[in-house]
Amino acid sequence: MTFRHRHLLGIEPLSPDEIATILDLAGTYVDLNRSAEKHAPALAGLTQINMFFENSTRTQASFEIAGQRLGADVMNMAMQASSIKKGETLIDTALTLNAMHPDLLVVRHPQSGAVDLLAQKVNAAVLNAGDGRHEHPTQALLDALTIRRAKGRLHRLTVAICGDIAHSRVARSNIWLLGKMESRIRLVGPPTLIPSGAAEWGVEVEHDMARGLADADVVMMLRLQRERMDGGFIPSEREYYHRYGLDAEKLSCAKPDAIVMHPGPMNRGVEIDGTIADDINRSVIQEQVEMGVAVRMAAMDLLARNLRAAASA
Ligand code: ASP
Repeated sequence: MTFRHRHLLGIEPLSPDEIATILDLAGTYVDLNRSAEKHAPALAGLTQINMFFENSTRTQASFEIAGQRLGADVMNMAMQASSIKKGETLIDTALTLNAMHPDLLVVRHPQSGAVDLLAQKVNAAVLNAGDGRHEHPTQALLDALTIRRAKGRLHRLTVAICGDIAHSRVARSNIWLLGKMESRIRLVGPPTLIPSGAAEWGVEVEHDMARGLADADVVMMLRLQRERMDGGFIPSEREYYHRYGLDAEKLSCAKPDAIVMHPGPMNRGVEIDGTIADDINRSVIQEQVEMGVAVRMAAMDLLARNLRAAASA
């Protein structure tokens, strides 16, 4: 097994072999999670602290379940009620927690780069659960596992990532991962929501959904990240849905067996039609959530192995 990292801060530093290692191990956890007894002792004796400085439904729940299934002591910090609200800096909070000897710290923060900074100050293995618009590595890994199970491979696929690319850490992590796996990536959205330098990322850029979805194997829809927008990026939600919302007509431009993905939370009638989202023949949105638990179990397991190896060296 190749995975030589102390932290999981992003997809950028991972090699294709390391990505495959995480996905292969996650595959075994998918089987465990589908069995009656969902426990394995990979993290027994370890303490996991989840620090979410931004709202989360899926990611926080799935890191918590992942840690519990692997036998860790899991603690969720209530960041709304924490001393950060009293003016304590992120680093002071991190150092305070560090003194309690956690082994795994799962951190989500609204500022890009904040999780990397924190990782430099603590002894625990740090997992980035999303930092600003920078990276969301476990989301890209769970997306990759979902795609690999549906399509049988990750290379030489055409993946259309559609919507608000500019504010999306999910898009960035997926672009890194799918690029490393030699898939063809097409970014589709209005010019205001695609960063001006995107063409230099080794991707194709399209502003028209029919052209962007043509022959796609995978259609990945993104939410309008209003919390990161200052000013008007779209004329109106109605107009946006008309031009960029995924409906049956637009989806018919993709391959007949193309899968539809969304990281959630989803806004029905804005970036995606509810019928498409619920269509079990096309949508793998619920499977993405299932893969999320398995991928997080695998990532924490591999980091814990490296922690133990470093401690015994
Ligand atoms: N849940 C994803 C994230 O945290 C996507 C989103 O919020 O739209 O980035």
